[in-house]
Amino acid sequence: MASAVTEPIETRLFINGEFRDSSNKQTFDVVYPYTKEVVAQVQEATAQDVDDAVAAAGAAFPAWRDLSIEKRGSYMQTLSQLILESNAELAKLETLSVGRPISAFFDGGLAAEYFSYFSTAAWSAQGTASLNTPDQLSMTVRQPYGVVGLIIPWNFPLAMFAGKIAPAIAAGNTVVLKSSEKAPLTSLYVAKLIKKAGFPPGVINIISGHGEPAGTALASHMKVRCLSFTGSSITGQKIQAAAAKSNLKHVLMELGGKSPAIVFGDADLDSAAAQTQFSIQFNSGQICTANSRIYVHESVAQEFTKLFREKFGAVTIGDPLDPTTSHGPQIDVKQYERIKEYLAIGEKDGKLTLGGDANDGYFVKPTIFEGVPTDSRLMREEVFGPVVTITPFSTEAEVIEKANDTEFGLYASVFTKDLDRAVRLAKALDAGTVGVNCTSPTGAKDGAFGGYKMSGTGREGLLYSLDSFLETKSIVIKTSRL
Ligand code: NAD
Repeated sequence: MASAVTEPIETRLFINGEFRDSSNKQTFDVVYPYTKEVVAQVQEATAQDVDDAVAAAGAAFPAWRDLSIEKRGSYMQTLSQLILESNAELAKLETLSVGRPISAFFDGGLAAEYFSYFSTAAWSAQGTASLNTPDQLSMTVRQPYGVVGLIIPWNFPLAMFAGKIAPAIAAGNTVVLKSSEKAPLTSLYVAKLIKKAGFPPGVINIISGHGEPAGTALASHMKVRCLSFTGSSITGQKIQAAAAKSNLKHVLMELGGKSPAIVFGDADLDSAAAQTQFSIQFNSGQICTANSRIYVHESVAQEFTKLFREKFGAVTIGDPLDPTTSHGPQIDVKQYERIKEYLAIGEKDGKLTLGGDANDGYFVKPTIFEGVPTDSRLMREEVFGPVVTITPFSTEAEVIEKANDTEFGLYASVFTKDLDRAVRLAKALDAGTVGVNCTSPTGAKDGAFGGYKMSGTGREGLLYSLDSFLETKSIVIKTSRL
């Protein structure tokens, strides 16, 4: 299957501008979820390798910080162009690791956009000055942290890679990124492009490996001053504890979700059904913002559910490398078994009205449960699969309470033609993003992106990303009375 890739797959760690084996030469397998074939054996970073990568980033930091924004930006522009030129190869590698249909690959363009946008955006995060006090000039300046640690998940590996590295280095930091053990290949491919773009050694270091030991070594490293993490809430808690116990590093968290979509009686039902089914079906439901809980007004519940079922069930299941496939397998047996557990809970607590286990590899058919009570684990926990609950409601107050009855708060959607109602709901819902007549995934990069409650701390998205990678310093200059 690796024959789908035309270049040799890079499997080594990228430290200080060079590719090298891990210190103990151990490897882990990357498996194509569709055939279960091993497509690569990737070097597994040890705590020693993390140390080496942090040291390289630390040594590269002063010179990178002192480069002009234009010069830093020119490396990033070159990388952006190289990523665009490699789009086809990146699409194949991402499909081989994640199993997302190649027809749904958008990440190369987005990654290139991130590097291009942030190549000039640092101008917009330069601080302020004040002459308000008669004998004082006060300035607030922004400075990079130094070495920044980045830890990413497997569901959108290339987009996450670029969305974190681009703002961090644009702000003048140097970075050590740990990719997910399930999907390290596109990160390593782009490492080759980083070398080709001529970045100074040590500015960007890429390591592959598991949470233990590589992730924990990075999260608890004393020389890492800021850490940006995207992944599950449980891992987020461990990382925050490691950061607190080591050096109280600044931590940004983008975590899990259990996002509600609320469909009122006056909504455009066809559009609401199309969008909500896409949100939960895309990437086989392995998306943090997936609207896994749908609440629909009782007056249109039957009609909406029929439309939703028709669209949700109409996927083409098959080989993700086949451009006609629209629904791929879950990423691995662990994820598949986890979803099966939730399918069993759904059958026990509610009524299965579409799908269920496909019993074929790691595939899970688009699945609907109805009549699931609020206290069921299926209503409260993140499934991370193409599994949705549909629940009727009668009043606005009731649905707000139900939608907010969760520890998560990443995304919420409201479908209605009543503008006042949309604004009331946008105000009342506990979510970092509220989509009105739209749902995820939308252009989150156009605004702040992040979670309320256990869905995260801090925000990403354009200037918010830059902000999270910059320290703030006040400089006060005593003058004569002016
Ligand atoms: P995960 O938490 O299992 O792993 C994420 C990363 O953390 C991986 O690189 C992993 O190796 C590393 N890791 C694991 N244990 C660690 C530890 N103790 N210390 C340091 N690093 C450790 O998550 P996943 O399964 O890769 O991704 C799915 C999760 O990510 C879902 O919960 C999803 O909602 C969430 N997610 C959130 C967003 C967002 O923007 N909010 C985006 C994508 C995915």
